[in-house]
Amino acid sequence: MYPTPVQQAALLEQCRQARYVWNLALEQWSMWRRDRGPTPGYVQQCRQLTEARTAFGWLRAGSQTVQQQALRDFDQAVKNLHAGTHRRPTWRKTGLHEGLRIVGSQATRLVKLNRKWARVLVPKVGWVRFRLSRPVPDAKSYRVTRDRAGRWHVAFAVVPPPIPAPGAGEVVGVDRGVTVSAALSTGELLTCPALSDREQARLKHLQRRLARCRPGSNRRRRAKTAIATLLARAGDRRKDWVEKTSTDLARRFDVIRVEDLRVAQMTRRPKPRPDPERLGRYLPNRRRAKAGLNRGILANGWGLLVQRLEHKAAGRVEKVSAAYTSQTCSACGHRESGNRENQAIFRCVACGHRANADVNAAVNIAAGRAVSARRETPVRVSSKREPQHATSA
Ligand SMILES: [Zn+2]
Repeated sequence: MYPTPVQQAALLEQCRQARYVWNLALEQWSMWRRDRGPTPGYVQQCRQLTEARTAFGWLRAGSQTVQQQALRDFDQAVKNLHAGTHRRPTWRKTGLHEGLRIVGSQATRLVKLNRKWARVLVPKVGWVRFRLSRPVPDAKSYRVTRDRAGRWHVAFAVVPPPIPAPGAGEVVGVDRGVTVSAALSTGELLTCPALSDREQARLKHLQRRLARCRPGSNRRRRAKTAIATLLARAGDRRKDWVEKTSTDLARRFDVIRVEDLRVAQMTRRPKPRPDPERLGRYLPNRRRAKAGLNRGILANGWGLLVQRLEHKAAGRVEKVSAAYTSQTCSACGHRESGNRENQAIFRCVACGHRANADVNAAVNIAAGRAVSARRETPVRVSSKREPQHATSA
């Protein structure tokens, strides 16, 4: 989206109001105590918003739709938390969460200018031009966002039809790794593009410079923008790769089997280890090492790939237990930790089968080997945890 400087200021002001309303809703919600009554729900909050708009001119100057949608988004966030699909709603921050949502008849005012350009009438802002990255959709709502690199986007909410299965009965296994982003059971190795060595070096340099800048200075602001631009570039490449890879897999295969890894749990911060001898001190908990692995996992967009696969190939994605897929021979089924020659090469000690380690794992995943093989003690699952399905279908 390409707003003029005046429009940018108007958009940012509305983003600020949406953020203010969201944070207020979050504050109310987090005030809940057992002994007090329930905190206000969406309907009550909307009434309060109307009152606040009559009382405060700066709030009244903004769009009611935008402010009301912030409340609705928050309501949805709470519902998502209770449904167990999302974590707690968090505070919205300046520069990080700049966005607003328009719904209803206001969201349908858009004009196509030519093959590549269109414009949309954003309430209280005016006609804003944007580049069409796909045909003009028939949408009932859209969201305008500004990323950390200062780029504006408009996204129309349309659920595209799923990609039809080819129907040849083909099954593929996908093993996701850090060195190779995805290995397929067909033997293909796919790598998600990351920042080049030169870009990495520049990022490091900028981060060091940022650390030396005085808070609130212009130099600091410039360094921050330069870092955000680099990171945005990395993010764009990753997303592009995920979209292309997921579409390709959904088109070529009927069933796509992936490891059932809980990325959110895997990338969580490790627990601190209190020192039993010295009170208030902590033992090393390998947090930096884990942070490095986390960066690798997140950089390869694991979670996103599976998520997009589930959207595009709805009902055709199966999650297989990840246990021992890397130690089991895909030719004879022999499982032993000595089966790995090294990080990259798999060699079976029983039958001598030799293959790329990631491809071997992908073949196991494709076979859907739910490997609980000869486990003496059953897996311990907390009694507090809800039973979980291993398959998405
Ligand atoms: Zn073997």
